[in-house]
Amino acid sequence: MLALIWMLVDASIQTRDSFRWVTHSAEVIETMDDALSALREAESGQRGFVLTRNASFADPADARLAVSRQTMGHLVELTADNPMQNMRARELRSLMERRIEMLRSTLVDARSGNFDKARTIIASGTGRDLMAMVSLRVDSFLAEERALRLTRIDAADRRLSWVRQLALVGGPIIAIAILSVSLLLIWGIRRPAGVIRRAMTALGDGDRAMRVTTAMGSHEFAQLASGYNEMAGQLQAAIVDQGRSEQELKIAHGELMRNSSILRERGEVIELLGGMAHRMQAARTDEELAQVIRVFVPRVLPGIAGALYAHNNSRNLLVPITGWGGFVPSQDGFAPDQCWALRRGQSHFVAEPGGDIVCGHVAADAIYHCEPLLAGGEVIGTLYLEGVIGEESGFRLTVMAENISSALVNHRLQRGLREQTIRDPLTGLFNRRYMEEALTIEIARARRSGVPLSAVMCDVDHFKRFNDEFGHDAGDVVLQAVANEMRGRFRDGDIVCRYGGEEFAVIAPGTTAQALAGRVEDVRKGITEIVLRHGGRALGSTSMSFGIATWDDSMAGDGAALLQLADAALYRAKREGRNRTVIDMQQAA
Ligand code: GH3
Ligand code: MG
Ligand code: MG
Repeated sequence: MLALIWMLVDASIQTRDSFRWVTHSAEVIETMDDALSALREAESGQRGFVLTRNASFADPADARLAVSRQTMGHLVELTADNPMQNMRARELRSLMERRIEMLRSTLVDARSGNFDKARTIIASGTGRDLMAMVSLRVDSFLAEERALRLTRIDAADRRLSWVRQLALVGGPIIAIAILSVSLLLIWGIRRPAGVIRRAMTALGDGDRAMRVTTAMGSHEFAQLASGYNEMAGQLQAAIVDQGRSEQELKIAHGELMRNSSILRERGEVIELLGGMAHRMQAARTDEELAQVIRVFVPRVLPGIAGALYAHNNSRNLLVPITGWGGFVPSQDGFAPDQCWALRRGQSHFVAEPGGDIVCGHVAADAIYHCEPLLAGGEVIGTLYLEGVIGEESGFRLTVMAENISSALVNHRLQRGLREQTIRDPLTGLFNRRYMEEALTIEIARARRSGVPLSAVMCDVDHFKRFNDEFGHDAGDVVLQAVANEMRGRFRDGDIVCRYGGEEFAVIAPGTTAQALAGRVEDVRKGITEIVLRHGGRALGSTSMSFGIATWDDSMAGDGAALLQLADAALYRAKREGRNRTVIDMQQAA
């Protein structure tokens, strides 16, 4: 396009130059004509003045001569570009200068009145010949200039048609080129813009993975594409992040709901366990405790059978309190070291056959759970449960085991307290108060059933002597030895008690005084055979005196009369020499 434009501009400049040269030739021709006609007008003015002697012809002739001279000077300047024509113009000027000089001298002669001389010069024909020569040269000059003008017109014409051709061909070429470039430009913008617009629409419709190529063919669009890709990437990451957060929130919410339902359930279980604990604490006997366990444990641990064993200190044995859910514990009980839970001091379970070592008190193939009941490191009992205990049941079991432990401890404590109130601490025999209550009950029973009831009162002989000789502690040792002897020799149902000091009493239901006397004699003999020692010293032997009486319907219901009768018999035994058994006189008779 630039070459085309340059050619067009160049051609038009040359065309303009050609026309200038044509104009120049025309000016040269016109100037030549002007100079020649001025000279001819001056010649005719001079002839007129000489012929008519009228001076009015002379002045214009002078002016025309000046014009002719001046015009010739101009012509020489005009032809400066063309050496040949310039040379011709100079020759013509000098010829015309000679003619101008001739005319002027003729005019000078005529003005000074010398008309004849002037006429002679004119008649000589010199001027005419000179003029003919000038005319000839002028013709040749003009012919040359006209030929030059024709050539220049021709050149201008050719250049003009070249310009026309250039315009005809170049115009459409330029137009097509501009159109093509414009179309290319539009396509170059529309294609990548369309790609990005489509990607954005897809992104807006939810296609988060939509990306565009950065090979756009243009730096600006490549930057736009990579900017879009970055934005889409960040959007996608943000959406993924948001999704993850929502998911986490949902999980947390689910967890919360689960936990709150677990908490609610636990609240209910704790309430239930609280109720159970209250009832266990209030239970007075082992059977009441067993009832509470049987009712509440299946509610706390539904569908799980089992048994509760309590530790019996004196026998060092775990004895069954109760079973539930169809499990019947063996009445024999088991030793603490047979239970791995008690040995290890923590839960012991077998969740599958061969999964762990099996306790000795359980069947070899049992699937079970043993929970130790401990308090301050002391064995209180064992909770035996059949099957596998789940996680939630584990929580219930832990709380329940603690409650049962403290209930058993409390129960044992209460039993101990009760024992303290009915037993004599030195000898371990029942105390007098208990004996009197028991006697009232036994009298009522005897009255109802008609079976006999007897009482024995006894007293250590010369007991004071032990205290005096060996000290009070030695006396206590004697009392304990006597008490042991008595406890071992009377029947299980007999109530042996320390009545006070060194006096003892025995309530023997279902026996008459005579029947009882034999056993009392055995006791008496046994006591005399006891070897008493204290603090490394022999205390010697001791003996006891016994008085026996049997109740009958005529006596009062509180038993005082019966004891008085037995005491009277004892008094007699003392009086009769001690270390003997005396039966109440009435009955003996
Ligand atoms: P007797 O054969 O007449 O019964 O003579 P005795 O010495 O046994 O009779 P007495 O009633 O005079 O003595 C009883 C003594 O027993 C008086 C008291 O100091 C003592 N005694 C009472 N209770 C205890 C006790 O718990 N321990 C000791 N070591 N002595 C006691
Ligand atoms: Mg006494
Ligand atoms: Mg005595």
